[in-house]
Amino acid sequence: MSTGLGRTLVRLAWPLPWTLAGLLLALPTLLGGGWQWRRLGPTGALFAYGGFGGWLLARGWIGAITIGHLVLARDAETMERTLAHELMHVRQYERWGLLFPLLYLWASWDAWRRGGRAYWDNRYEIEARQAESRS
Ligand SMILES: [Zn+2]
Repeated sequence: MSTGLGRTLVRLAWPLPWTLAGLLLALPTLLGGGWQWRRLGPTGALFAYGGFGGWLLARGWIGAITIGHLVLARDAETMERTLAHELMHVRQYERWGLLFPLLYLWASWDAWRRGGRAYWDNRYEIEARQAESRS
């Protein structure tokens, strides 16, 4: 096994439990055919959009959400618009793996504790917004 392949497998495996949870959540959407694979360096992310997942996100005023290597988007248009942002979250999952959701929550609490906003001033959201402006 080449080191390149080894590294790819580690990137995919480290947040895998979250990806699997996301796949379960997105199953109705995936079966409905609203999905696309997008590359991200040596790995990538499975975008599921529309269908039941999209309906659910729209109820919560959420455009898209990243769970491991799975991104759930409201619809195809939202997927394109949030692509760079959500792919940065995938990168963050590849960096922090299983720990990422905990680190994310901690960053929200930390931002709030300093008088900031839990979502907007979360360091991982700031990094994702920077990726948006670069694209
Ligand atoms: Zn975000």
